Amino acid sequence: MKQITSVVLLLICFISAGINYGQTDSQKKKVCITMDDLPFNRALNVSTEEMKQWVEKLLIKIKKEKIPIVAFVNENKLETNGKRDPARVDILRMWLDAGVELGNHAYSHKSGNLVPIEEYKEDIVKGERTINELLAEKNLKPRYFRHPFLNTGRTLEYKHEVEKFLANRGYTIAPVTIDNSEWIFAEAYDKAISSNDKEMMTKISGEYIDYMKAKFMYFERQSQNLFGRQINQILLIHSNRLNADYFSILCDMIRNAGYEFINLDEALKDEAYKSPDTFTGRGGISWMDRWALTQGKTKDFFAGEPRTPEYIMKYAEVDSE
Ligand SMILES: [Zn+2]
Repeated sequence: MKQITSVVLLLICFISAGINYGQTDSQKKKVCITMDDLPFNRALNVSTEEMKQWVEKLLIKIKKEKIPIVAFVNENKLETNGKRDPARVDILRMWLDAGVELGNHAYSHKSGNLVPIEEYKEDIVKGERTINELLAEKNLKPRYFRHPFLNTGRTLEYKHEVEKFLANRGYTIAPVTIDNSEWIFAEAYDKAISSNDKEMMTKISGEYIDYMKAKFMYFERQSQNLFGRQINQILLIHSNRLNADYFSILCDMIRNAGYEFINLDEALKDEAYKSPDTFTGRGGISWMDRWALTQGKTKDFFAGEPRTPEYIMKYAEVDSE
């Protein structure tokens, strides 16, 4: 009798677990959206007025979505003719006022793979002057640093020294797991706008959302293969015209794929981010790929990663992803 009761109890447990499936917190996939190259990706080629219009457009969508976002600033994009431009600083302030957390993305987007370490450190320090000021007004400090080009250095010595330097300045490195070539779609989109090619704009945007969906699916598979579960993902996109027009549609796609949006703090609580990363290759690649390479995974493991369609690459005049 006791045995039968146990079996019945066990069955009830299974059934109720089944009913709760999809509702429990641990079952829901989670992603943090991060945005690079603030205040605006094309800052060096647009007028301050145009920049303001595009940023306003993007921020309306970000506010509407009510999603926690950490975004990374290149302070040289706050300058006009080599001088800090108060009008551009005001545009950056708009980001803060929209509830976006600002992080450091180095002053002039130098690559840690290409410049001597002292120069890289200098770019980090120079990259926090305005954000320090703006955040101090709200009694805050920048907490995160994002490596430009996701380049973390060509030797372990360089990489570890930068890690130590950043930690001493109070920064946590912001990794990326869902890395992608959204920037190529954005370049193509910019070009279509300047040629007033509406048909091409629509085509690029549709292709962009499909491509991002495929990237999410790919990195979900990689998460399963590497960790046997869905880790908290971190997505990288940029502050650009493409997202000013399509951010909400991108968010809808992510939600429909079963994701909940979380902030970077929560994302980084996932144990996965403690995985060793000894990658010192040339590429600015996903942390998912770094962990896999550190574990000695070979080519087959990375098969099936979605690529940017050839015609988009050609249109954007970009040779490689
Ligand atoms: Zn960047």
